[in-house]
Amino acid sequence: MSSLDTLTRSTSTDSRAAEPSFNEGLSLAVDRALRHLDLPPGLPEQIKACDSVLQVHFPVRLDDGVLHIFRGWRATHSSHQLPAKGGIRYATCVDQDEVEALAALMTYKCALVDVPFGGSKGGVQLEPGQYSERELEAITRRYARELISRGYLSPGGNVPAPDMGTGAREMGWIADVYRTIHPEEINALACVTGKPVTSGGIPGRTEATGRGVQFAVRELFRRPEDLALAGLDGGLEGKRIVVQGLGNVGFHLARYLSEEDGALIVGVMTREGAVLDDGGIDVAGLRAHLDQYGSVDRYPRGRTDVDTDAFLATPCDLLVPAAVEGQIHRGNGAGVQAKLVVEAANGPVTYGGDEILRERGIPVLPDLFVNAGGVTVSYFEWIKNLSHIRFGRMDRRLDEGRGARIVGALEQMTGRPADAALRAELVTGADELTLVRSGLDDTMRQAYDEISDTFHRGDGIHDYRTAAYVVALRKIANTYFDLGI
Ligand code: NAD
Repeated sequence: MSSLDTLTRSTSTDSRAAEPSFNEGLSLAVDRALRHLDLPPGLPEQIKACDSVLQVHFPVRLDDGVLHIFRGWRATHSSHQLPAKGGIRYATCVDQDEVEALAALMTYKCALVDVPFGGSKGGVQLEPGQYSERELEAITRRYARELISRGYLSPGGNVPAPDMGTGAREMGWIADVYRTIHPEEINALACVTGKPVTSGGIPGRTEATGRGVQFAVRELFRRPEDLALAGLDGGLEGKRIVVQGLGNVGFHLARYLSEEDGALIVGVMTREGAVLDDGGIDVAGLRAHLDQYGSVDRYPRGRTDVDTDAFLATPCDLLVPAAVEGQIHRGNGAGVQAKLVVEAANGPVTYGGDEILRERGIPVLPDLFVNAGGVTVSYFEWIKNLSHIRFGRMDRRLDEGRGARIVGALEQMTGRPADAALRAELVTGADELTLVRSGLDDTMRQAYDEISDTFHRGDGIHDYRTAAYVVALRKIANTYFDLGI
């Protein structure tokens, strides 16, 4: 059933006020996982505490000549491994609680996927759409200088990346500022990741988070026992997916899952409105329309009068919130009609919302796993910057030559030409993008394995989020033990 007609009917009873904040909710989820671990006294507190938070106010002259004061933060949640890593967000919702919560999430995310970084996050409170490119450049460069001068940005100390409202362009500006201040720092490019490929970035970083979501979902679909928990079976083909957010993360995941895996994207909601189409939405077409018109107005089945709670209650197989935190909460969790929730955004299900989904038996694949593709490929970019060589440069042609010799030997033995597809695969050495994808796929599958093992071990863990935190906390604790703490 399409919920087009019911879209404006809210299911919310607005009991959100009673919810813990994003940061408190995350802390409670960690506490739940800690109950399954026997850590020495004091260590849980050390792991959970935010190391430090910087708040900055800085002036930037806008195009109309007026000086405007901006407010930004950068939180370093953990430095048991350095550098600390985490994105920079430009949004009006940015505040200290949000930045601290997102920094903490980075600590657990990095640990879960074996990325040897501490957790950090930053942001500036602004609506990027309200500023010209020149203004955004001035704001970004000034914010970067603030972070550098206070020790919150360097290749070995604290390395930002894109998040909501920022992308490769902003990261390029930040790298440029750092290099200008430290012209002789040989590893300067590693001060930030998510840069344009032409300025020290790595192919596959822009789409990495969405690609990682696809790999996470594919791994789930390789496991019939996990699918059964969600009342699902079979493959991804024809599965009905609803996506909230069509930015960097939402766009890529929706595109890959529909174009490459045959899933049907039956609902998309962005700030510009919503589209519901049981026949499946052309994700690239919708994105192009939004870029051109800034609205779903003239898009087939586009609606601007849509209520978020009603949209999130659209019946589907997979509900993928990929926009902002706090979308599924105590007030609307009862309305969710998905078989599985895949947290592509950070913190889209609140602590209260999570409790409701658990009571209702709707599994949630948690954010710290699902969207870890971004930081994973950032890690690859950072290593590339430190090693000053592109991946595959030393061995690509060697692999191609070896593949050609294997094909030649096979053809000689069989007396027949090799299958064209097999030949192409064997004689083509992996380029950097192929290596990045392979590393990302391996990371997501390995992490899923560890979460699934913990979940199915039967130690009283009944949800993927707790299992993921148990895996992450165990690894963080081991790092502290190695440090002699
Ligand atoms: P983005 O700014 O590129 O896109 C955000 C999208 O969400 C836009 O389509 C916007 O219209 C939509 N949106 C915002 N508020 C909304 C609302 N209230 N209702 C409906 N739609 C809304 O952001 P992004 O980089 O795609 O990040 C999305 C989420 O993924 C965030 O939680 C972010 O922290 C997380 N994340 C991003 C990355 C990354 O590499 N960019 C990595 C990990 C996690």
